[in-house]
Amino acid sequence: MGESENGKSRTIKIALAGNPNAGKTTIFNNLTGMHQHVGNYPGVTVEKKEGFLHYKGYDFVIVDLPGIYGLSAHSLDEIVARNYIVEEKPDVVIDVLDASNLERNFYLAVQLLELNVPLILALNMADMAKKKGMKINKERLSALTGVPIVLTVATRQVAMNDLLDAAIKLVESKAVPMRSRIHYGREVDRQIEIVMQFIKRAPEIARLYPPRWLAIKLLEQDAVVIQTISEKPQGKLLLEAAGKSSALLKALFKEDPETLIAERRYGFISGACDEAVTLDYERRHDVSDMIDTILLNRLLGLPIFLALIWLVFRFVFWASAPFERGIEYLFILLGRGVGSLFSPESPARSLIVEGVIGGVGSVLVFIPVIYILFFILSFLEDSGYLARSAFLMDKFMHKIGLHGRSFIPMLLGFGCSLPAIMATRSIEDEKDRLATMLAVPFMSCGARLPIYVLFIGAFFPEHQAGNVLFIIYLVGIAVGIAMAWFLRRFLLKGPTAPFVMELPPYRIPTMKAMLIHVWERGYLYLQKAGTVILAGCVIMWFLSHLPWQSPQIENPNWETTRLERSYAGKLGKAIMPVFHPAGLYDWRLGVGFVGGFFAKEIVVSTLGTLYAVGEGGGEKNPSLRSALQNARKADGSPLYAPLSALAAMIFSLLYIPCISTVAIIRRESNSWRWPAFAVVHTIVTAWVVAVIVFQAGRLLGLG
Ligand code: GDP
Ligand code: MG
Repeated sequence: MGESENGKSRTIKIALAGNPNAGKTTIFNNLTGMHQHVGNYPGVTVEKKEGFLHYKGYDFVIVDLPGIYGLSAHSLDEIVARNYIVEEKPDVVIDVLDASNLERNFYLAVQLLELNVPLILALNMADMAKKKGMKINKERLSALTGVPIVLTVATRQVAMNDLLDAAIKLVESKAVPMRSRIHYGREVDRQIEIVMQFIKRAPEIARLYPPRWLAIKLLEQDAVVIQTISEKPQGKLLLEAAGKSSALLKALFKEDPETLIAERRYGFISGACDEAVTLDYERRHDVSDMIDTILLNRLLGLPIFLALIWLVFRFVFWASAPFERGIEYLFILLGRGVGSLFSPESPARSLIVEGVIGGVGSVLVFIPVIYILFFILSFLEDSGYLARSAFLMDKFMHKIGLHGRSFIPMLLGFGCSLPAIMATRSIEDEKDRLATMLAVPFMSCGARLPIYVLFIGAFFPEHQAGNVLFIIYLVGIAVGIAMAWFLRRFLLKGPTAPFVMELPPYRIPTMKAMLIHVWERGYLYLQKAGTVILAGCVIMWFLSHLPWQSPQIENPNWETTRLERSYAGKLGKAIMPVFHPAGLYDWRLGVGFVGGFFAKEIVVSTLGTLYAVGEGGGEKNPSLRSALQNARKADGSPLYAPLSALAAMIFSLLYIPCISTVAIIRRESNSWRWPAFAVVHTIVTAWVVAVIVFQAGRLLGLG
């Protein structure tokens, strides 16, 4: 606990730990409201959310750790959470448990007990537990475990302050708590004692971890702990002793010590729950189970899932269109207003009106789409349905050598690849994880949405808009899965680890959680518009005006000629022949593709700038959409048709992950090989698929 010089205000640092879906984030949001800072994507850690609040004269810092099932070294999430607790030494750890699944959630609690950290158990979802007919005797449970227990209902803000009060009490009480300790049976306990003797003889090591916990981890042969210990003096001796004990247990019980220990923990838990929990009446058939008989039906499940997603896209288009037109109109007015402040010929006017307002505006128009889509996605996620889609895909995914579990990060990729790649940390098998990580960028993220909405709006009738969008997303999923299959089959060969899927019960999501989610997402988008995209627009404007050429007033096509001779024009024209097989001839689009590496929205903002600067802009084509519709080739035929627009969208969907994604793949895979691979294979794949779509479409007479 930190204390300022005059002792007036004290800081209490609380870490929230718990299984996924236990309600940590809801508690975190309740406690901190908007006083939080979310790790900003590029560079900063995404996995840790920190928030602040002031209560009863204390300053609280609250940290939302990743959801975990235990403290083993099997998944990165668990290692991250464990390291945080062991190394940062928060003043209090609040373990958030789903009280309606108490036994399963208790496994982590037991491990935290052993870690001997200052612990509070929040038995959250007390409402659900009650509905199930569970009566929890918290005094009893508290006595059995030796830690304070608070029953909470996070969604209704029940007992949030009790958590803080308990934390204050825990921090202020000087008494050493009496913890109950799990007995692992005579033989195991004896080996724990023996290893502890060795630990005591190595003070430098004893300072790092609680001795009993360390002894248990060494018997379990925990890879991370062994690594840390082996670097210390006296470490070798200790590891040797622990290795002997571990081998002895294995020989004795014909079973891994890790399994032995886990069994005993479950034994303790089931005993404790028997003591402290009574069932009021016979458990009724859960509502969740009933819904699942339909939604997870072997025949109907997948079609229902697809139909639902299809409806979502239709709805998103329909609901956002009026807002979009409104914002578009506002930007046109803004451009005219600002433009009238300058003389018509001044370069400053052109830079601001065409470069900045035209470019950034063309991206901001899509804010309503983004917000509405994210709102619905967070509804599906919070309700528990998204986790089920992974279950639906599980059987299929197994056939291609992956887990259904890999499907969840892929779905998260619809929002943004960065958190999706972070989410692969929950996948235990390293090869599974890499394959999933490399498949994620094919999922269509929010930044690509403006590209589709622009092209679909310009070249497809309104009643088809949702369908086209749906197809594009499906192509993304299909290519992503194909990629993962390819990787698992040829580059990352190995058996699939067995895994039991967890199905969280259905819940009605709270407005607050969804709004916070949408706000975070939308805020990142706005932030990007004000930084990366703005910079992209300014650079594009200069590229489209340099080298400087003296105007030829008498030439009516002067603007077009000038633009084509600029650096941007030269760049675009150099690239474009590659895209001719895909039916794409617009050099401005080529420039956009290059810019899109920095952020995919830049594809759109570049078109916005270049069309505003060039012939198509101004009064003749007030919106970028109509500029695209009216764009002509040299021979006077239209530059785009529905089929080539589709090819443009498919290429945008699949090519190159943005620069932040490349950076995070580099960080998460810990090598340059995989991000480099991702860059190359996405470009190749995108080109091939776009060409196939265009050529096949033409053969079918659609062009
Ligand atoms: P996390 O994964 O631990 O961060 O869990 P979340 O905070 O995201 O919560 C998962 C889901 O459970 C969300 O849909 C919440 O609205 C819901 N939830 C959280 N706390 C409660 C509760 O006390 N009662 C009920 N019925 N639902 C809750
Ligand atoms: Mg959470």
